[in-house]
Amino acid sequence: MSSTLEIQEVCKSFTKGTEVLSSASLTLRENEIGVLIGPSGSGKSTLLRSIAGLEIPDSGSISIAGKCVNDARTYLEPSDRQVGFLFQDFALFPHLTVEQNIRFGLHGVDKRVASDRVQKYMQLCSISELKSRYPHQISGGQQQRVALARALATEPVMLLLDEPFSNVDENLKAQIRTDMVELIRASKTTALIVVHDIEDAYAIADKISVLIEGRVAQSASPEELYSSPASSGVASVTGEVNLLSAKASSFGFTCAIGELDQPHDLEAGQGATLVIRPEDLNLEKEGDWTVEEMRYSGIGYLVKCINNLERVSVFVSAAELPAVNDRVGFKVHRMHWIVND
Ligand code: ADP
Ligand code: MG
Repeated sequence: MSSTLEIQEVCKSFTKGTEVLSSASLTLRENEIGVLIGPSGSGKSTLLRSIAGLEIPDSGSISIAGKCVNDARTYLEPSDRQVGFLFQDFALFPHLTVEQNIRFGLHGVDKRVASDRVQKYMQLCSISELKSRYPHQISGGQQQRVALARALATEPVMLLLDEPFSNVDENLKAQIRTDMVELIRASKTTALIVVHDIEDAYAIADKISVLIEGRVAQSASPEELYSSPASSGVASVTGEVNLLSAKASSFGFTCAIGELDQPHDLEAGQGATLVIRPEDLNLEKEGDWTVEEMRYSGIGYLVKCINNLERVSVFVSAAELPAVNDRVGFKVHRMHWIVND
């Protein structure tokens, strides 16, 4: 299948000497929903704005639907890129009704076509009955649907959404998230969505790209990203995880929780980082570790243990729950390892 978005080695600095994007590359196939995640300040909004044409990269190239929109010789205006942008604050016009807000994006489109589109996307987004209301007369979730309908009504080749869930109520978020992705899928639009929480990324993405210090450090399916993060930087944005420094040995690895059997192709003595999820460990009743604290998570407990200055978190059910200050050990039943760079 063809790529709808192809970003190659994009660099951008705002002040000399500090690169915000440093050779960022990313591709999205047609109808794919991509999620961009990364620490605050890692360049997510700058990358999105570069795709839309609101920022001009210093180097690199960006193609949308097979057409170059930006490289050393080319710069297409935002309005010529066929891209819909959903801003974090939705950017609805307060003095326009819902219907007028959606129609606003259709400047220059034939009047009858525009009317049909407005009706079609209000219907798709279930906001037809709100059409005469003003933004302040509808809820945050409804405002988001209006903003989405406005972006979709231009029938863009792709949609860019910058943290669309950060202004919605926490208790409504899961529903709004599902609804929104269903609408995007129903409209068969490729989308790149910046999110803040990894749970959002897992819930909606076909492909997650992790931006760290201006580079896409890894692009992978949610399952692959969770099970095989490519670096400790990536691992640390993928949810609760133990990162243990280890040395390869002839049988496996030596680390703070002991000697672990694990086939590998490293040379004995080579350093590595073990990536062990809290649910991939079992608690043993004997060992050198001390239970420091626990946190209830609904499905079970996250138990934090300490030994000297090392800490390890393990997920346990209520039936296996130890007490604070108990002495414990671990049995690892699954892990992933990363060669230190
Ligand atoms: P993110 O969205 O990942 O939090 P941004 O792309 O907004 O990150 O910003 C990345 C860095 O670029 C930040 O340090 C920010 O201060 C800087 N930056 C973004 N836009 C501008 C700008 N217009 N002028 C100067 N610096 C900027
Ligand atoms: Mg941002």
